[in-house]
Amino acid sequence: MDVLTETAGIRAENVDGGVKVFLRGTSSRSFKEVKCKVAVAADGVNSQIVKGLEMAKQRKFFTTFHVASYFLEGVENPYPNSWITFVGKGHTPQGKAQIYMLPKHLPTAKPGDEPIVDIMCGTPIGVTAKAGLDHFLRKGKFAHWFRNAKVIHTASAVLNFYTCN
Ligand SMILES: Cc1cc2nc3c(=O)[nH]c(=O)nc-3n(C[C@H](O)[C@H](O)[C@H](O)COP(=O)(O)OP(=O)(O)OC[C@H]3O[C@@H](n4cnc5c(N)ncnc54)[C@H](O)[C@@H]3O)c2cc1C
Repeated sequence: MDVLTETAGIRAENVDGGVKVFLRGTSSRSFKEVKCKVAVAADGVNSQIVKGLEMAKQRKFFTTFHVASYFLEGVENPYPNSWITFVGKGHTPQGKAQIYMLPKHLPTAKPGDEPIVDIMCGTPIGVTAKAGLDHFLRKGKFAHWFRNAKVIHTASAVLNFYTCN
């Protein structure tokens, strides 16, 4: 097996008996073509490879979902070993959000380290995920769980949803 580092998959297309994939290295403007029986597009939730496929042109985009996430230390969580979902409309100013949190061990954790908490807020178009999450942590009904919490990592995601063919 060859591993090509610093190489982007640009496009893929069906050819007789398999797939042709176009690759480009960081130091070159020209494409390299690779033919194979099967190609797995694993370039993420908004895959550019999939977007460029002929069959993807038939699917219909229907919405975008935004996610903001913090890793927190020092959460006073009465249910430390649980995946917790906060349901109902009262948790964010605009009322539309999906909030959940769960314990995680970082890859750098040593045996005996307390888990950190990953908390996520997902929102539909027009509602800011970060603002919803900040409001929930500072002013929400459970703000007392987070009064001594420290943000050690932030992340975000934009998830685009399409119909299946
Ligand atoms: C805070 C947060 C919350 C999320 N919540 C959810 C959720 O609730 N549900 C959900 O389904 N998803 C969620 N996601 C999206 C999540 O990222 C994906 O579902 C999941 O990580 C996809 O895994 P993957 O292996 O397909 O892609 P990734 O883990 O994104 O890996 C893709 C890899 O491909 C590489 N790459 C990208 N483009 C190219 C290219 N052209 N050529 C070569 N390599 C390339 C990238 O560098 C990366 O290493 C969330 C993401 C974040 C950040």
